[in-house]
Amino acid sequence: MQFPRILPLLICFLAAAAHAQDPKSIREEFFPAPDTTFTTPAFATKRDFTNSDRLFDFLNREASEVQGWKRDTIGYSAKGTPIVAIERGGEKVDKPLRVLFIGGIHGDEPAGVEGLLALTQHLGSAGDWEHLLQTTTLRIVPMVNPDGVDRMNRYAANGRDLNRDQSKLENAEMIALKRDFVAFDADVVVDFHQYRPYRADYVDMGDFGVTSPFDVMFMYTGNLNVPAAIRSASESLLIDPARIAMANHGRRFANYFRPTVIRGKREFRTGAASPRSSVTSFGLASSLAVLMEIRGVGMGRKGFERRVQTALLLAKSFLESTAKFPEFIREARLEGQQDQSPVVIQSERNKEMTGVTLLDLNRKALRTFEEEVSDSNNQTATETRAFPAGYVLLPSEERAAETLRTLGLTLTEIKEPLEATVQSYMLVSDRLSPKPFEGFFERIVQAETRDTIVLIPPGAWWIDSHQQRFHMTKELLEPEGTNGFVRYRVIDPLSDQPFPVYRILPEDIIHP
Ligand SMILES: [Zn+2]
Repeated sequence: MQFPRILPLLICFLAAAAHAQDPKSIREEFFPAPDTTFTTPAFATKRDFTNSDRLFDFLNREASEVQGWKRDTIGYSAKGTPIVAIERGGEKVDKPLRVLFIGGIHGDEPAGVEGLLALTQHLGSAGDWEHLLQTTTLRIVPMVNPDGVDRMNRYAANGRDLNRDQSKLENAEMIALKRDFVAFDADVVVDFHQYRPYRADYVDMGDFGVTSPFDVMFMYTGNLNVPAAIRSASESLLIDPARIAMANHGRRFANYFRPTVIRGKREFRTGAASPRSSVTSFGLASSLAVLMEIRGVGMGRKGFERRVQTALLLAKSFLESTAKFPEFIREARLEGQQDQSPVVIQSERNKEMTGVTLLDLNRKALRTFEEEVSDSNNQTATETRAFPAGYVLLPSEERAAETLRTLGLTLTEIKEPLEATVQSYMLVSDRLSPKPFEGFFERIVQAETRDTIVLIPPGAWWIDSHQQRFHMTKELLEPEGTNGFVRYRVIDPLSDQPFPVYRILPEDIIHP
């Protein structure tokens, strides 16, 4: 029987939209509800999710200071709602491992928020998992973006994506989160998100469309400027045990992937499609970091119990891993901080044809499709620069200096004019992105360096490489950084002005 190609697509698309996705038959077979009864705020009704008011009610009732939770207001959203952190554990040892769990950066991803609240019920003084916090201090920021959550919308009140504001720090919510992360000095960070399993790109795959079958997709950074020790420890010490926990509970999982269409051709990207996600930023700060993408954006309350339980099981697995491997985690962080590998300026993702497993909606079966996959977790450096002893930032760059301090870098002001041999940058290509990103046009440049002797003026800043979060500067201050200050116009010199950052090589180190 021959249908015009467009007809089944249209029917499928409309059916999917009308059904609000995951028909009962798919849900029962592939995503059965757990036999757990949750008592967190979203489950008090059949329709809604936990908003900021209900969050505060819940914390006052079930995770209050009287009940042994420390609570801090770490900042306020654009609309003035407090952003809170709660903390407990670690009393049994001198130096507990420090774990930060984050939820609700995107306001329409409620499983993380709810899973973290369910977690607090297990960790309280009457909880069955309290033993997990004997040697670990856990800090939870359950709702970074209350303005988004209160509208069930991904974005902050100004329409910005907070997860894309890791280095420009334009939003009060992200400034609050970064300050808290730095003050807490997290060894491990887990950021809970959700992904959209029904996508327009999936409509013409399979018989009449496919959906993602994975309860969770693991995202960890493939950015080569994140020290290898941090990258591999994030996977082996945190994600590998979580994979086992998921398998033991009948959950399907994969490394994060999503389809993208490039010049009319479909390609799948694994890992962080852009290096702008929180995992890269936390990894560059020498913390082990993972981002959980739990299935379910756009699915409403259908199957919500299963998603919340997935978040809860993951959170438990990460706490078990930190209780089990504290020394390995500390060693990986230290090794990462001391890493002096060359700075990676350009890299290429490995590309190959490989199997991608998806759920065929017509056959109600998993199917593997041979697809072109471009892997952000498997990249090769194509251009590098020597690891510097530090960077110099000229006095004009006050905003960059301030942002670096918020991100936890130490800057030393240069008081007297200082003659030094430096590597200065010359921009050899310089253009603006054709489309705006987060409300501005990115500045995309390529630079060459030249060894030169300069007189560094008083008021400039010295950023020494011997500090814990120095790896961040490789992405922020090198002009090409995809997440960098030039790209984001924090440093935005006129094309005929000298570039206001110098690199200093170890043999030319200065002592301001
Ligand atoms: Zn998200």
